[in-house]
Amino acid sequence: MEYEVVIGLEVHAQLLTESKIFCNCTTKFGEKPNRNTCPVCLGMPGVLPVLNKKTVDYTLKTALATSCQIAPFNVFARKNYFYPDLPKGYQISQYELPVARDGYVEIELGEGEHRRVKRIGLVRIHLEEDAGKLLHDEEGENYSYVDFNRTGVPLMEIVSRPDIESPEEASEYLRTLRSILLYLGVCDGNMEEGSFRCDANISLRPKGQKELGTKVELKNMNSFKFVQKALEYEVKRQKDVLEKGGVIVQDTRLWDADAGITSSMRGKEEAHDYRYFPDPDLVPLRIDRAWIDEIRRGLPELPKEKLERFMREYKLPEYDARLLTTSPQVANYFEECVREYGDREKGKVVSNWVMGEVLRVLKGDDLGIRNLTVTPGHLARMLKLIDAGVISGKIAKQVFEEMYQSGKTPEEIVKKKGLTQVADEGELSGVIEKIMTANPDLVQNYRSGKEKLFGFFVGEVMKETKGKANPKLVNELLKKKLSDNI
Ligand SMILES: [Zn+2]
Repeated sequence: MEYEVVIGLEVHAQLLTESKIFCNCTTKFGEKPNRNTCPVCLGMPGVLPVLNKKTVDYTLKTALATSCQIAPFNVFARKNYFYPDLPKGYQISQYELPVARDGYVEIELGEGEHRRVKRIGLVRIHLEEDAGKLLHDEEGENYSYVDFNRTGVPLMEIVSRPDIESPEEASEYLRTLRSILLYLGVCDGNMEEGSFRCDANISLRPKGQKELGTKVELKNMNSFKFVQKALEYEVKRQKDVLEKGGVIVQDTRLWDADAGITSSMRGKEEAHDYRYFPDPDLVPLRIDRAWIDEIRRGLPELPKEKLERFMREYKLPEYDARLLTTSPQVANYFEECVREYGDREKGKVVSNWVMGEVLRVLKGDDLGIRNLTVTPGHLARMLKLIDAGVISGKIAKQVFEEMYQSGKTPEEIVKKKGLTQVADEGELSGVIEKIMTANPDLVQNYRSGKEKLFGFFVGEVMKETKGKANPKLVNELLKKKLSDNI
């Protein structure tokens, strides 16, 4: 039997505000445990939470960028459960009346002519506070610590409709959503530090069946790769169970990256009843037209708009524009480099270097581009050295590597390492003659029609000059010398 995969994703995005959602403690990551706390986020009796307006601004930005309906009247609710990382015994969240609902994210699927756009619906976007963090078995001690620094850090929960039909689509959806949040500047998108987290609901059903199968919740996937792998594993696991005539048990499973499997975390008997009710400590949140308009006016250029502009303004192929605009940091780097280079027509040349060498040294850490030793200015100056014939494209790769390692300017490196291109006709002629004298048979073979040998001679010249010969001149001179004296 053929099965259809049905996936829905819940993303928790930590908002980039300076202070927490209901108190003025800092949200700074990496502080000593329990430093960033106060009576409000520790849930002391008698304290009152006050909503941080910025968290609503950021949620509205996200809602507008994903075409959501914004609710004029919002209520915060208490989600009650007992866990040591939750000092109040409840989490302030939103339940029946979230800030936004019914939006969508457009993702691109397939390659070449099969490329298509698919809309993944959003059920809702709501605001809530994060819980603390438990630290187990520190330095071999057999008890646990709790760190409340994260308690009260603002989170935006973005819940998709079960419109996702494969692990690849899930991965693409997350990439697109993360990119939108990065552009909006509302979240830093760091999956490893947990500021962009994802849980997944996945079920299988026989093809054509309307009714959904039993769903399983997946947690603990802290990279795009793991999300995809965990979902792939789960598709296979559920298919195996169903094909053997078994039934899927509704449960929550954890992804174990080392073992490459998911395993059950808690069964149905522990399913929670959160007893939601409106938080009496917080007044309802009213969002009027004027507030929404103000946010709309301040929206930045979004990934799709930037992609279209890059194709138009820099005449880039779609592939390049897409790769460069995935993160605003990479897009800014590219634009600054073109600006320094001073020639918009040569956008493709810059794009080749950014997509090639720059992204290679970043190793997928697009945020790291901010601290890259090779600044856009240095890269632009290096491109000018190629244009001026001072270095060849091949040597430029070496210069780039050196800039990356040392942070020095391209001019300094070229000078210090003696990498200036050999474009002196006399000098190159001498090298060519030497090689021809050393290989009389091959010269003879070439002259009698074995033209493929041309590449061998080019290679020898490059070897002799340590790659510094001007390739165009080498070609010209070689052609001339090899056809002489026939
Ligand atoms: Zn606090």
